[in-house]
Amino acid sequence: MFVPFSVNDFLDRARTVYGERVGVVDEPVQPAPSLGDVTYAELATLARRQAAKLDELGLEVGDRVAVVSQNSARLLTSFFGVCGSGRVLVPVNFRLRPDEVSYIVQHSGARVVYVDPELDEALASVTAEHRFVLGDDDDLFAPEGVEPRPWEPDEAATACINYTSGTTARPKGVQITHRNIWVNAVTFAMHAGVSDRDVYLHTLPMFHANGWGMPFATTGLGVPQVVLRKVDGAEILRRVEQHGVTFLCAAPAVVASVLDAAATWEGEIPGRDRVRIICAGAPPPTRTIVRVQEELGWEFIQIYGLTETSPLLTINRTRSEWDDLPAEERASRLVRAGAPALGVRLDVDKEGEVLARSNVVLEGYWEQPEESARALEGGWFHTGDGGVLGDDGYLTISDRKKDVIITGGENVSSIEVEDVLFSHPAVAEVAVIGVPDEKWGETIKALVVLADGASATEAELIAWCKERAAGYKAPTSVEFRDELARTATGKLQKFMLRQPYWEGRERQVG
Ligand code: AMP
Repeated sequence: MFVPFSVNDFLDRARTVYGERVGVVDEPVQPAPSLGDVTYAELATLARRQAAKLDELGLEVGDRVAVVSQNSARLLTSFFGVCGSGRVLVPVNFRLRPDEVSYIVQHSGARVVYVDPELDEALASVTAEHRFVLGDDDDLFAPEGVEPRPWEPDEAATACINYTSGTTARPKGVQITHRNIWVNAVTFAMHAGVSDRDVYLHTLPMFHANGWGMPFATTGLGVPQVVLRKVDGAEILRRVEQHGVTFLCAAPAVVASVLDAAATWEGEIPGRDRVRIICAGAPPPTRTIVRVQEELGWEFIQIYGLTETSPLLTINRTRSEWDDLPAEERASRLVRAGAPALGVRLDVDKEGEVLARSNVVLEGYWEQPEESARALEGGWFHTGDGGVLGDDGYLTISDRKKDVIITGGENVSSIEVEDVLFSHPAVAEVAVIGVPDEKWGETIKALVVLADGASATEAELIAWCKERAAGYKAPTSVEFRDELARTATGKLQKFMLRQPYWEGRERQVG
């Protein structure tokens, strides 16, 4: 029997089996009225009312709905209300500037856009056929009792388009299907040992690879989900204590902020011997892994993947064979990206690029057939990451082939930052590179050659970038040079430019 996978499977099960259980604890204090504690039965009702609202607005199957919001119960509901009725959710990075958000809304062809009240003024120029501010729930949900039009699930249909910065100046829209979501959520939950006794804390932004798919996995298993709107180490510890949280996902910079907060925390660290923290986005320092185990008493799990792979490709979790190893030695095994998740095949090509094949790999980039063909050439997904596959099947990410900087867990396209700097009249040549940084893993450095007779200061160029792109994409330092190393064909030699900053390090990524 063939039954098409869809996101509705997760919510249907939650409603049937865990209907009375609190499924979502919304952020208590936020600019929109908090939805408070929402049971899974109520979440299912909200999703149906949201679908009915989209019917009322005249949205067809396949139409796009963009939501620009910090983590919230309303955004979480949209994963089911929008995708579960055959429409396509475009969750947008709330840190982007208005023109960046407008590009995504327009490129995706979103007919409806919802923005968080805190962003409303700044995003006044972001428009669509229907534009609403989250919080007035008549705009989001049809009245109770109005039933949505039925949708016949199609597992090959696109459920979400997640825009990600990569090798092009503009972000690309990653089309994730219902089937991608299903396989990612189920294998992730299996490998991370998620059960209905867990309590999940949404530390990851939900827009980023759909919160790595955890909204689906946790819903399907009836796991209560605690929404966190703003990342803060001490607040994470408080929520872990208050809600009995058992697992969370985080980039290394967030793990570091929890460790910082723990240093001044009074009393027993919450969740000792209970919490597991799943880390990805960049390779964490070995020391961080040891500290998580020793100072927090939490289990450290690493995964590796990309927005394009839903994202789970590999997972690294302590196995029984490592139980008796000294902490440092165990950490030296956990520092690797991990072993392939079930159903993932990995390879490393002659140039050292990691290739993957799996049912979690994207359908394609939205309206960019050439980029899609390039990424999927030869029937393998080209990750753009440099890596080494050990004899034991474990992958280590050692290098980056693509021109992307990952700072604090977010991707930044070097080309995009170079474009912005180029638009400054004093800049004649520019190369933007990632350099190691204690806090952020990598931070952005611009190497600039000034035009003849022109002058500009470091502070001026940084401010120029902040005015024109999201703050996290601005360089944190600028170095002025007389010339930049180029190949014979005039191409910038990024590798050469990066080298001095990474010398003596085992990996060329942070
Ligand atoms: P994104 O699509 O924004 O989630 O970024 C994906 C990129 O993050 C990958 O291509 C890698 O470069 C990097 N990345 C994710 N997880 C890891 C990890 N565990 N170790 C090293 N790099 C990682």
